[in-house]
Amino acid sequence: MAKATKINFCSFCGKPQGEVKKMIAGPAGVFICDSCVRVCKTIIDRELGEKKTPQKDPDEKPIFNLQKPAVIKAFLDQHVIGQDHAKKVLSVAVHNHYKRLASELGIGVNDDHADQFLANDLKDVEIEKSNVLLIGPTGSGKTYLARTLARMLDVPFAIADATTLTEAGYVGDDVENIVLRLLQSADQNVEKAQCGIIYVDEIDKIGRKTENVSITRDVSGEGVQQALLKILEGTICNVPPQGGRKHPNQEYIQLDTSNILFICGGAFVDLDQIVEQRTGNRMLGYSAEAPKEASELLAEVRPEDLVKYGLIPEFIGRLPIVSLLEELTREELVSILKDTKNSLLKQYRKLFLMEGANLHFTRDAILTIAERALEMKTGARALRSIMESIMLEVMYDLPSIEEPVKVVINAGVVKGKGKAKITPIQSTKRDAA
Ligand code: ADP
Repeated sequence: MAKATKINFCSFCGKPQGEVKKMIAGPAGVFICDSCVRVCKTIIDRELGEKKTPQKDPDEKPIFNLQKPAVIKAFLDQHVIGQDHAKKVLSVAVHNHYKRLASELGIGVNDDHADQFLANDLKDVEIEKSNVLLIGPTGSGKTYLARTLARMLDVPFAIADATTLTEAGYVGDDVENIVLRLLQSADQNVEKAQCGIIYVDEIDKIGRKTENVSITRDVSGEGVQQALLKILEGTICNVPPQGGRKHPNQEYIQLDTSNILFICGGAFVDLDQIVEQRTGNRMLGYSAEAPKEASELLAEVRPEDLVKYGLIPEFIGRLPIVSLLEELTREELVSILKDTKNSLLKQYRKLFLMEGANLHFTRDAILTIAERALEMKTGARALRSIMESIMLEVMYDLPSIEEPVKVVINAGVVKGKGKAKITPIQSTKRDAA
């Protein structure tokens, strides 16, 4: 009997041992060569990688629209006047947040090729989520910034008012209802909602109950912070699909909040005094030296000042990115009225055109509106209500006028001392001729 040869063959590609670098033996005469191992690894990587990608349908829209910070900022510039620093901070924060998400979800990031350059020792490093805290007076654009960002990224957006959480006894329920609102804005698409943005307003009001700045803790405020902290950090939320309180026989939708970006905002009235107390040599408010402007003081704000304001350290820890918004100036209010993409004046002009009227505001009228808004101390919020009251009479009359007209609003109309000037467009042309 001839002696059996000892050459082993790869059971996958059939190559003999002499033609491969390495042959690995399995049970009962099964072998695999190094090159077949590599092919198998590629297949496994590809298949598992695909499973991580949430979009199965290639025609389906991406769940968010990742953009470079400069592109985000340019979009914000079209809608939000001033607040340059906040716009820059938010553009970078949002870009990083969604970039991190893209890599976590295995979505291709096409604005650079970071993956190729990632050193091996960094590949397993987890980038933590950075939520944002916006500090700025009422009507300076905090909510508007967050909303505009969500629109640009095409992600679901929800607004929550932290003070309503304080008032409700059942804190947990309410916090889950915030997440429910996001889910509703995502048309019940859990995957999309999990990549959304939640703006939590009045965050400065949940640290304390009394008006004076006190370092004593308010228990209910702290409870709300703890509940919010959980969803900020990332938790699986059981969301009651119809909202309201939980009850035992209800079915819940599970939603993971770890990739939701939270932007918290508050006016933090008197926070500058806490900063002054910490940085100043003299007692608060009694310094003989030229006092610093509130905005200068706020620029120096530190986490410990926020603790003194009543926020718990863990909560502040989850809001590592802080940006300050300035009170809007008269010029900025003018610009908000006429220059933004959706400015109020453009909106009214469109409305009037639909009635066949050409609307015109004199420069003085616009300045007077801005000044009135400044007096009201509610920032740009006042603009709409001022406009509504100015336009009431003429909007009442206009639909009854049959012919095309030109409507001029001057400072007198804004001050309530006169009526809008309405002239037929043809006679205006004749006058001019
Ligand atoms: P808050 O800072 O109190 O959250 P909002 O963002 O709600 O203020 O502002 C109220 C409205 O005023 C917005 O919906 C927007 O129309 C307008 N607005 C406020 N700030 C700006 C701004 N900087 N640029 C353009 N519009 C603004």
